[in-house]
Amino acid sequence: MNILVINTGSSSLKYQLIDAKNENVLAKGLCDRIGIEEPLLKHCKAGMDPVLIKCAMKDHEIALNEVIKALTDKKYGVIKDMSEISAVGHRVVHGGEEFHDSVIIDDRVMQTIKNCIELAPLHNPPNITGIEACKKVMPDKPMVAVFDTAFHQTMPRYAYLYALPYEIYEKYGVRKYGFHGTSHKYVSQRAAAMLGRPLSELKLVTCHLGNGASICAVKYGRSVDTSMGFTPLAGLAMGTRSGTIDPAVISYLMDKEKMNIREVNDYLNKKSGVLGISGVSSDFRDIQAAAETGNDRAKLAIEIFCYRVRKYIGEYAAVLGGMDAVVFTAGIGENNVMIREKTMKGLEFLGAVIDPVKNEAKGVETDISADNATIRTLIIPTNEELAIARETLVLISK
Ligand code: ADP
Repeated sequence: MNILVINTGSSSLKYQLIDAKNENVLAKGLCDRIGIEEPLLKHCKAGMDPVLIKCAMKDHEIALNEVIKALTDKKYGVIKDMSEISAVGHRVVHGGEEFHDSVIIDDRVMQTIKNCIELAPLHNPPNITGIEACKKVMPDKPMVAVFDTAFHQTMPRYAYLYALPYEIYEKYGVRKYGFHGTSHKYVSQRAAAMLGRPLSELKLVTCHLGNGASICAVKYGRSVDTSMGFTPLAGLAMGTRSGTIDPAVISYLMDKEKMNIREVNDYLNKKSGVLGISGVSSDFRDIQAAAETGNDRAKLAIEIFCYRVRKYIGEYAAVLGGMDAVVFTAGIGENNVMIREKTMKGLEFLGAVIDPVKNEAKGVETDISADNATIRTLIIPTNEELAIARETLVLISK
């Protein structure tokens, strides 16, 4: 049984075809620049070099037809025809307060996802476009929506409410929602497997450190707090996002720099974070290279990033009343040795001590704790596509 996993952005569509029986990825790819000039489909059959296919992709529906063509191609395809796709799993960014779990998509669900557009104006519309394109191209396939916000719906009220007049929450749903839920949930489950203990007994702090970055306090398998908020702008300093700042800075900037709402929003989302501090790049590989040649602001960006991650780990240790493990995942968490080392320095008093040799590991499930550590520090590569395929399989099998 094969599950097609779809993740749509405004001008992109990422896909993976996963064999649900053995969880092997049969093929994956990316349609880039949909609706703009020179669209390109990069398709990769497992075990083969990727192929680049230039094709007209005016919209997501056409892109999806190209994906089906690639998946069924004689040379680099992996299935005979569409009948070999059993279901489609969609990543949907925002499920508001409606969705605590993944759901089979029907008309009512579709309407509710549309109602969440106001909460995620940049993310939900392309997700909806992706679902609608699939419905047209594969009308008879069951489809499942897997939400980035769903895992965090277990947060208690005192953790998710802002200290704003309560009516703002009632009127507009302004509260902390949290994101990267699929990843935090997946790595929590893997952590339990690695530790050989039931998730229902574990207190974990999971650090998803990619371009977008968030931390989650996971108590007995449930999210009890997370660093992102009403939008994915809150919390850590990220590639280009500021993370949490004093909200008064916004009106100050608007006044001093004569910025309007859209401009200030862009400033905080696209020009800030470690890019803004370093002036070098949003990518830690570039920032690290610059720091190694003595670039002071690149060094500062690294310090700021690690300091915030460390602060959140300490904060969530307090939230959880102790921890069994800290988990590092996503591009930086899985691969950046220096960031892990700098982040964990100073957390020894909590029993979190890492072994510098084990910490050299990259992109593989590894326990990097030192012998004298009393809590574990783990590297766990995230796999949101596999998590979406699993959720899809569970729902369509019911
Ligand atoms: P996104 O949030 O866009 O999915 P990623 O999870 O890929 O991003 O994270 C991007 C960050 O991860 C970059 O700062 C980059 O430096 C780092 N990164 C990704 N892959 C590697 C790697 N193989 N080695 C070192 N750093 C990496």
